[in-house]
Amino acid sequence: MRTRLWILVAGLLCTSLVPAMGQSTRVTSPIRVAIIDGQSGGAYHNWRLTTPVLKKELEETGIFDVSVITAPPSDGDFTHFKPKLSQYRAIVMNYDGPAWPAGLRAQFEKYVDSGGGLVIVHAADNAFPNWPAYNEMIGIGGWRNRNQSAGPYWYYQDGKLVSDPSPGAAGEHGARLPFEITARQPEHPILKGLPPVWLHANDELYGKLRGPGKNMTVLATAHSDPNNKGTGHDEPMLMVLRYGKGRIFHTMLGHDVFAMSCVGFITTFQRGTEWVATGRVTQEVSATFPTRNTVSYRADIAQMDPAFLNGASPVVPSGIK
Ligand code: ZN
Repeated sequence: MRTRLWILVAGLLCTSLVPAMGQSTRVTSPIRVAIIDGQSGGAYHNWRLTTPVLKKELEETGIFDVSVITAPPSDGDFTHFKPKLSQYRAIVMNYDGPAWPAGLRAQFEKYVDSGGGLVIVHAADNAFPNWPAYNEMIGIGGWRNRNQSAGPYWYYQDGKLVSDPSPGAAGEHGARLPFEITARQPEHPILKGLPPVWLHANDELYGKLRGPGKNMTVLATAHSDPNNKGTGHDEPMLMVLRYGKGRIFHTMLGHDVFAMSCVGFITTFQRGTEWVATGRVTQEVSATFPTRNTVSYRADIAQMDPAFLNGASPVVPSGIK
């Protein structure tokens, strides 16, 4: 059956996303956040383009103070790479690079274990297949030679989360099409007030991810369509996890700048980052939030990728079915 797809481009001056900070007499210090980038598994995850997008999306809420920490490249020297993680209330991982030295791994584990917030964006769950603590933090991951030794597959079946120990590789996706996100924990602060089902802009729909899945709550899923190389399962898309005292928000969404220009991505990323840092969400939902039938993206953000500078619609028409 053909479903009509409506596309809404939110205005350049999307003031509804910005809380009215100036109207409050209460003085609160901004939440310090660091985005870690510096490497990706390939040119297809262009962190030089996507990190400025993530930074802008956090800063425009008015509640975050965002730094960027760029790790050395895979052939670089990590000797002097010693970020002071403890000064941040949340770390956003936009990184899929080589293994870190033991000292840095230990510092990262201590940071999260003692209550630091962590946000995993898309391919950051490809990183570090051989670092057990990191795989506990992300819950599930894909690629980089992960297989059954990484843990079972996790997906939704008959309305509940199941684990599947079948052997096999981890991680796959089809063509980048719009797809529906279905809330499984609609009362969680990150999702509260959002539609129960909404249409995400063209993105990779990750499936067949594996991992320990400890202390993991799936907030939202997406149906992986076998007609688009999918699994036929409802795959986890948004998750929260605990690691020691630390809170973690894991979004599978955000392959590229366009996927990150989706108002649904933006809202859940902004709220997820606040939630891992403070345990609550104070941000309102934008009036331009997508609906079940309507993709909604920010043209001003899409155009942060030069490929979309000419105003060409990045929504692939052939993806509409
Ligand atoms: Zn990707």
